[in-house]
Amino acid sequence: MTLATKKIRTALLLQFLLCGLFTFGQNATTPSSIHQSVQSYTDEIFDSLVKIRRDFHEHPEVSGKEKRTSEEIAEYLLALGLEVKTNIGGYGVVGILNTGRAGKRIAWRADIDAMPSDVPDVVDFSSKNEGVRHICGHDVHTTIGMGIANVLANQKEKLDGTIYFIFQPAEELNKGAKAMIADGLFNLIQPDEIYGLHISPYPVGTIATKSANVFTHITVVEIAYKASNNQEALVDFTKELMTSAQTYGPNAEFWDNNNIFSPELGVTNPNTIYKDYTALMDKLYFDVKKSKDTLKIRVLLNASTKERLDTFLPMIKNKIETSKYSKELLSVKFNFQKGLPVMETPMNNKELTNETMKSISSIYGKQSVIPLYGVAPLQFSDDYAYFQKSVPGVYFFLGGSNNEKGIIAMPHTPNFEVDEESIRTGVNYFSSMIIERLNN
Ligand SMILES: [Zn+2]
Ligand SMILES: [Zn+2]
Repeated sequence: MTLATKKIRTALLLQFLLCGLFTFGQNATTPSSIHQSVQSYTDEIFDSLVKIRRDFHEHPEVSGKEKRTSEEIAEYLLALGLEVKTNIGGYGVVGILNTGRAGKRIAWRADIDAMPSDVPDVVDFSSKNEGVRHICGHDVHTTIGMGIANVLANQKEKLDGTIYFIFQPAEELNKGAKAMIADGLFNLIQPDEIYGLHISPYPVGTIATKSANVFTHITVVEIAYKASNNQEALVDFTKELMTSAQTYGPNAEFWDNNNIFSPELGVTNPNTIYKDYTALMDKLYFDVKKSKDTLKIRVLLNASTKERLDTFLPMIKNKIETSKYSKELLSVKFNFQKGLPVMETPMNNKELTNETMKSISSIYGKQSVIPLYGVAPLQFSDDYAYFQKSVPGVYFFLGGSNNEKGIIAMPHTPNFEVDEESIRTGVNYFSSMIIERLNN
């Protein structure tokens, strides 16, 4: 997960953890025998997975330098009997589990890189690489990917089709997915569907997702005017126009991070205040550039839905064209700028989102799956989005927090920590989910 800017206050997480969603397992239906086998095999390998995760945690490697990590992954997959391709788009690794029988082709993606960080770790298996830390949980993602490969290799005789495991480098730089694709990933493998996850502050034992975008759409709106003597008035007019074009509710409520996960207002409530909005990050970015010929004003835009994003420019353009400044207007456009936190959000396929949420909750209990109804105005993204441009799929949040143990799995925060039980959850739920997809 790439976090462009904003620091998130710990308070929001504590609030969230108190909302009592963690009732995993209470309504579980009787699993079919194959899902029982999945769970007992995951239990068997669980301790070894925790060991692997801690080894990655002690040896984190920053984006683009994941040499050791990728070697460990490749060795593990080879030992499982998978066909393994290495050095794809940098240190990317692909494992191919071919059942030898025709069928669906399902891809699972895990990101593998760590981050530069001097913040002291909270665990006693902290980094041995000074200034580098797995503070986004990709060590857990990598381990879960390896665990799923192990479980499905173990079930191979009962499965049809092919499963691809994509271990992606350089996610934190928003580069690895594009690099793997540019290096011919989709010539090597042709998945029908793709899935992946990110650790999140939801309670351990749960997963959460929604169809369409899982993060807010962020982009830069650039309005260009002809240079004139009216510059100050034009800036004021544009600021006023942009500010009034926002659609969210009361300012304080919307921007209070404590509300993002609150049961009443937050993203897990069907009537969340984060369901449908256009908001400007004017505190973060409002840039005025004057030159001899033009005046350019740029604002960072947050849109909750693709529809909001698509209708914003025509609406602004129309308002300027019907104002007294119409003659000065040159253009209104989205202008992606290097160095700005502008990234694509994963876009979940509606049908696959519904089907996978349904299959996981029918096997592991209704409370294991948290449907989301909105997106928070936080500057998070994941370059997994680029895989989903070619292949329909779903991106899940995997709960990693545990209130009782004082663990808050909020990526990129100093006290970031993961309940390792989430490895068991991830391997179980998503092994079962892939089996269900292959059998469908
Ligand atoms: Zn991250
Ligand atoms: Zn991440």
